[in-house]
Amino acid sequence: MNQYWSATVSRLQPYVPGEQPQDQQYIKLNTNESPYPPSPAVARAIRDYDVDTLRLYPDPESTALKQAIARHHGLSARQVFVGNGSDEVLAHAFQAFFKQPKPLLFADISYSFYPVYCALYDIEFEQIALDSNFCIDTKAFKRDNGGIILPNPNAPTGIALALAEIETILQSTDAVVVIDEAYVDFGTESADGLVDRYDNLLVVQTFSKSRSLAGLRLGYALGNASLIEALNRIKNSFNSYPIDRIASCAAIASIEDQTYFQQCNRRVIETRESLSAKLTTLGFRVYPSSSNFVFVEHGKKPAAGLYEALKQAGILVRYFKSPRIDNCLRITIGTDAECDALVDALTSILSD
Ligand SMILES: *Cc1c(COP(=O)(O)O)cnc(C)c1O
Repeated sequence: MNQYWSATVSRLQPYVPGEQPQDQQYIKLNTNESPYPPSPAVARAIRDYDVDTLRLYPDPESTALKQAIARHHGLSARQVFVGNGSDEVLAHAFQAFFKQPKPLLFADISYSFYPVYCALYDIEFEQIALDSNFCIDTKAFKRDNGGIILPNPNAPTGIALALAEIETILQSTDAVVVIDEAYVDFGTESADGLVDRYDNLLVVQTFSKSRSLAGLRLGYALGNASLIEALNRIKNSFNSYPIDRIASCAAIASIEDQTYFQQCNRRVIETRESLSAKLTTLGFRVYPSSSNFVFVEHGKKPAAGLYEALKQAGILVRYFKSPRIDNCLRITIGTDAECDALVDALTSILSD
């Protein structure tokens, strides 16, 4: 508290991201970054970038980037909105659609940024309990609401919802439904194909995870042109140029290299499946993941102690001290070598 702070600032409880230690001594399996570099086409685009053009502002509409994204999803550029990371896109969506007389609905176990945006924009919300297997009960979302937001696959559980269930939710409300597809490329079907059929659907994706570009800060939304227009009105009242010239150029190179993208995602999925099997052997319950991480719970050892012991061993994983999941760990899929190091460390920790 400080005498100069606004009431809003005093009330905020900001989101706390996973640790980003600057000494680089850890095997980092805590923030769902890719263990693989971005496409070589991205490296080329940045190397060949004409630095002279940085004296000019970028295109405020990011037209070339929107066209590349639209092509990838079989949509038109008018159905695309781009932002400085999908967190920014989500924040704009909260402000554009969810400040309603009726409450926003999201799961009790979900992306922990959602309640933070609600506090920032003074949005009422209700949390809908996942079932005992951490699955979404779509029927429970059939109640009065001013909007619904779901990560698919869910975070931090990694569990995916079938497209038919998403359609059920879309049909059950007149409000906007945001599907946050940060992890969709690791084996879940995207709702992008539903955008033409549902006026109330906004699909949000990011370059941070499946495109190995967390450091570039690029995310986007897909929806019908009038939802996109709402996001543009917010953006143009906030920051005219959220996407810098270099980021735009690198992102276009990434999205045009479909082969590399699919190769990396396939490797992550293969490693996820072999790591899941090894963790099961070590006595973990591994929730069925469709993401680039696994959510696990050990039958005997508390998660808080395992998190600490792994950190001592030079391996960072994510531990959430939150109701229902405070005995779980979220572990990002690293390279095969990193996952082997994790299994070795856990084997030794668990035998103590
Ligand atoms: C990582 C993540 C995001 C945000 O990613 P950006 O880096 O801001 O694009 C959004 N939603 C979920 C569920 C995430 O896990």
